[in-house]
Amino acid sequence: MYGHDLPRLHDALKEVQTSMFRSKLKELADRSLMRRLSPLESGTGPIIQYAGREVILLSSNDYLGLATHPEIISAAIHATEQYGTGSGASRLVSGTLPPHMRLETSLATFKGTAAALLFGAGYLANIGVIPNLIGQGGLILADRLCHASLIDGCRLSQADFRIFRHRDCTHLESLLRRRSTNRPTLIITEGLFSMDGDLAPLSDLVSLAERYEATLYVDDAHGTGIMGPTGRGTVEHFGLEQRIPFHMGTLSKALGSHGAYIVGPNDLIQYLVNVARPFIFTTALPPAVAAAAATAVAVIQREPERRTRLWSNRQRLFNGMQKLGFRMTPTVSPILPILVGDAAVTSALADRLLTHGIYVSAIRPPTVPDGTSRIRFTVTSEHTTEQIDEALHALDLAGRETGLL
Ligand SMILES: *Cc1c(COP(=O)(O)O)cnc(C)c1O
Repeated sequence: MYGHDLPRLHDALKEVQTSMFRSKLKELADRSLMRRLSPLESGTGPIIQYAGREVILLSSNDYLGLATHPEIISAAIHATEQYGTGSGASRLVSGTLPPHMRLETSLATFKGTAAALLFGAGYLANIGVIPNLIGQGGLILADRLCHASLIDGCRLSQADFRIFRHRDCTHLESLLRRRSTNRPTLIITEGLFSMDGDLAPLSDLVSLAERYEATLYVDDAHGTGIMGPTGRGTVEHFGLEQRIPFHMGTLSKALGSHGAYIVGPNDLIQYLVNVARPFIFTTALPPAVAAAAATAVAVIQREPERRTRLWSNRQRLFNGMQKLGFRMTPTVSPILPILVGDAAVTSALADRLLTHGIYVSAIRPPTVPDGTSRIRFTVTSEHTTEQIDEALHALDLAGRETGLL
């Protein structure tokens, strides 16, 4: 009966939608919060090809240059030749391939845990694991600067969800004291904070978790591979491997690959295999990716000089930025954010830096809290001292051009 009106109805709906998209985009543009894709003309590395020229990339999380490590590349090629390009289905459906087994074994050995479980991405691990550690009636206490994937995991869990001030254990303890007794509680933090480059006070967090019988969930996406004497991560850095029985990390940052893992006791891993929906209902990582990550775990242990170079590069860039007089976060890592505050000025600074041959991105809300927009520099072991000095020169110019210096 209404059939003849359907095309018109469809058109009307489309118009409403289009205008909704446009008005949202206009609002973002007006607030300097528009995000755009920047198509590169090369792969990643200290130098990339962008807009027809070579520029220095200082925005990548490939801290140890492992994404372009020859041995890791050949492991990926070899695994593709041997096992194919795709893994076919979820591991529970079409079986676990040798590269997945090898990677889980090497992660567990590296981290000194009984077992490990792979996820398709850090995002998937966080939204898959958190809701299975706590649910309705429980209480989650999370650091204010936790990554969006952690926040989404908290939301999915349906537990009550409170934020404690960044790295503030006094605030956390006051929230723990106020909860009703025996309430299941999960404390969530990043190990090395992705947008500020500072470390969680893990020793104090563990003590509070023990005292108040809460579970501690550490996301060590950025610490993995670079923190700790042997690169095992932030938990190793603080010497807490005996007191933090499980944690999460990614393969996509210092390991130069893709995906994520939980390392921990057998019972936890077997439980997650059975309940974590983003493990059960997604296709396993491609063999090439798993083989690359497994080789990266070996390279991290065999080539500690990459970490040495990373930390000395970090010191050189950090000292230079401080000498120029930029306002920075209290970073202790290769993540070196220059705090600008205003989103428009931050974008202008990124634009000026690009003109001077430096590719960095403006980090704006909702990635960071309102009024704390920044340029997040990340340096790698593969940058040369000349490139770092060139970046500092560009920063000097761009800082003056935007009135920040
Ligand atoms: C990058 C990141 C993630 C997400 O990891 P992906 O593998 O990129 O999905 C999760 N948590 C933190 C703290 C991160 O920085």
